[in-house]
Amino acid sequence: PETKLPSVGTTIFTQMSALAQAHGAINLSQGFPDFDGPEALLSRVDHYIRQGANQYAPLSGVEPLCTAIAAKVERCYGRRVDAASEVTVTAGATEALFAAIAAVVRAGDEVIVFDPAYDSYDPAITLNGGCAVHLPLAPPRFAIDWDQVARAITPRTRMIILNTPHNPTGQVLSREDLDALSSLVAGTDILLLADEVYEHIVFDGADHQSVHRYPALAERSFVVSSFGKTYHTTGWKLGYCVAPAPLTTELRKVHQYVTFSTSTPMQLALADYMQAHPEHDQQLPVFYQAKRDRLNARLADSRFDFAPVAGTYFQILDYSAISDLPDTEFVHWLIEHAGVAAIPLSVFYEQPPAMKRIRLCFAKHVETLDQAAERLCKI
Ligand code: PMP
Ligand code: GLN
Repeated sequence: PETKLPSVGTTIFTQMSALAQAHGAINLSQGFPDFDGPEALLSRVDHYIRQGANQYAPLSGVEPLCTAIAAKVERCYGRRVDAASEVTVTAGATEALFAAIAAVVRAGDEVIVFDPAYDSYDPAITLNGGCAVHLPLAPPRFAIDWDQVARAITPRTRMIILNTPHNPTGQVLSREDLDALSSLVAGTDILLLADEVYEHIVFDGADHQSVHRYPALAERSFVVSSFGKTYHTTGWKLGYCVAPAPLTTELRKVHQYVTFSTSTPMQLALADYMQAHPEHDQQLPVFYQAKRDRLNARLADSRFDFAPVAGTYFQILDYSAISDLPDTEFVHWLIEHAGVAAIPLSVFYEQPPAMKRIRLCFAKHVETLDQAAERLCKI
């Protein structure tokens, strides 16, 4: 019988993490920290569980968290959003992305996606009867060619999916990019899905170019973020979507039947922590830049070629000087010969190009990074 997602297998993240474990390798593949979120956040979860906050949260999220999210959007990006009608707390960014796509993509609609693309976009589009139009970005800059985007837009284009800072390349979009996008969509009814889960992980003093900063874009956008990335709690699977009320109404129709709502004590704890520690967002780039720089300094003597990434907690390495293997094979070789697990980049393309690049996650203790770098310098 015909299946709905014939070309989908198990995600590369699950595959590589399993391989890392099987080989006892240092796991720099799947993106998650090897340290905990702040103690003041963890202890609030405990507090709320003991207080009996253990029943269903409201479907859009607990009120204090929606309010904290709206306050954060205003503080960081100067955009006022209504906590009650424009903010929805979801089971990770993953659910928000899926719900946004399911809410608005109709059979035959086209959705523009930039490759390399985070792996959840395409299946969500396909499951909802849409057609993903993949536009490949070329290394080393992986910059968007807006003329190419203009040519890809058709009367059936329903949505464009943006991801900045970008997983897996570590690139960030510039003001010029967002201005070009604004010109392209002006006068159309094209919607945007802005995946900004790494919004606070932007380096070298640059500003995150959030869609929230651009009123003409924000009015047609679902903006998605993840508490997992910002508070080192990927296992809590909590994220959110900010969108104008009419779009939020549609998103919630999906959300209420996919999950209905998410963990009550964790939402309450996040609300308290966000309110008490607004400085956390500003400290995050400094915290992760130190890790990026530490890893890169230790890799200076290796045979990898790389430029420091502009954002995310992933560093891209070019291994052309080390091996002729395609990246999907090189990552296996690397686990066996260096004891380090990485993610190949080509798997994020609809049409995988010949690629000699891998992604390393540096959301790790300094000791983990040093040990990994030492191994990588030996090959
Ligand atoms: N989008 C991007 C670009 C990601 O890297 C991730 C995962 N880390 C997600 C979405 C999913 O986030 P979450 O874990 O909150 O579901
Ligand atoms: N987003 C994480 C990454 O890029 C993985 C999330 C997952 O395992 N699905 O590595």
